[in-house]
Amino acid sequence: MSTQHEAGMAAAHHVLVLGAGYAGMSAAIQLAARLKGREDARVTLVNAQERFTERLRLHMTATGQRLAELSIPELLEGTGAQFVRGWVTAVDADAKIVRIDDDRALHYDTLVYGLGGEADTAVPGVEDHAYTLSSAQDAELLADRLARLANGTVVVGGSGLTGVESAAEIAERYPEPNVVLLGLREPGAAMNPKARAYLQAALERLGVKVRSGVEVVKVLPDAVELTDGESIAADVVVWTSGTRASSLAATAGLTVDERGRVVTDAALRSVSHPEVYAVGDAAAIRQGYGVMHGTCQGGMPTGVHAAISIVRVLKGKQPKPFRFGFYHTPVSLGRHDAVVQFTRPDDSPRRVCLTGRMAARYKEMVTASPWSTWGRMKKMPASGAFWPRGGRFTSARGAR
Ligand SMILES: Cc1cc2nc3c(=O)[nH]c(=O)nc-3n(C[C@H](O)[C@H](O)[C@H](O)COP(=O)(O)OP(=O)(O)OC[C@H]3O[C@@H](n4cnc5c(N)ncnc54)[C@H](O)[C@@H]3O)c2cc1C
Repeated sequence: MSTQHEAGMAAAHHVLVLGAGYAGMSAAIQLAARLKGREDARVTLVNAQERFTERLRLHMTATGQRLAELSIPELLEGTGAQFVRGWVTAVDADAKIVRIDDDRALHYDTLVYGLGGEADTAVPGVEDHAYTLSSAQDAELLADRLARLANGTVVVGGSGLTGVESAAEIAERYPEPNVVLLGLREPGAAMNPKARAYLQAALERLGVKVRSGVEVVKVLPDAVELTDGESIAADVVVWTSGTRASSLAATAGLTVDERGRVVTDAALRSVSHPEVYAVGDAAAIRQGYGVMHGTCQGGMPTGVHAAISIVRVLKGKQPKPFRFGFYHTPVSLGRHDAVVQFTRPDDSPRRVCLTGRMAARYKEMVTASPWSTWGRMKKMPASGAFWPRGGRFTSARGAR
């Protein structure tokens, strides 16, 4: 590399994107596509692994199913964005430096924080005795354990959508062990009565025993303990109850919410450090209907919006407020069945839902859609900027 080129690189505005999940990848590709050919800005994407983690399919990984090999450097090919493989160990938000694997330091001018979330393991015993779907490695550990389990009981703690998808997948893949799904709310609680009934019937057909209205207060090596002291024997415990963000942002001094997510302003900038944009599950983003919950459907638009905002600021313009409205909740029930609940922008259920094989195909199409979205975005950045804005649910008037 020539000295002149190095001098140019040093002077260029450096946008560092942390986390190559759905949100971080969307931010990096959108940014690189929009900045292509400019000498005054460059983009670097940092991620723990070179392989893209398909978080939406971690329940498949957990049941030993092989997924496509998706390489992050290949997904970035042609964009000009640099890829750095490494584990982010610290962010110094005042010095604008990110530490990678403790011994490397990357300076940034603008940071996009997209390190995602992980299972909340605060309940005693979860850290030591339960499996989670926090990362591909965690899911692989569970797959290894399930493959060695001839019979016995698998308890899935948490009756939210990740718990439902995991319980269904395990029961379909391994018919011998008992699968018990425990949680406070009944499975599919946020769906309309038809979708909820379908989901619950599918769990029953797969042999999943559901107990709702119960809370696990402790996980032991061979059981889980409920609030009233009852204990349920468990050979394997899968923990899907609640999520939190990594402690990195709080340690860096960024303003975070009670789950460790970076609190943003309307344009997705950290309220304490405006040169930091937060996207995806790592961000606490308020809309007219409340703080967005973590999804891929909302995470990708946050990444694209942050990228567009950064480009606007580089051009001396003001970033625009982010607006997003939910439109569906697709839930897989094993490999051949699913429910898709269509929703209003605030995520409340509409009357319309899809079930059965058609829903399974819809879910698969949604899960595989990021690759084509990113491919299009590389050639036509503007194509990434289409998502439901939420209408009156997110407009300044509707939000009042
Ligand atoms: C089983 C399951 C099924 C789901 N199904 C759906 C669904 O159908 N629809 C939907 O919309 N959402 C679904 N979700 C939620 C969805 O997966 C998340 O909302 C989405 O992945 C968030 O994207 P993200 O980019 O913010 O984070 P992630 O996808 O989690 O990406 C974060 C990235 O950061 C990396 N990283 C984290 N910490 C570090 C570090 N310190 N250093 C370096 N790299 C790091 C991670 O390795 C990862 O690559 C599902 C989740 C699960 C677990």
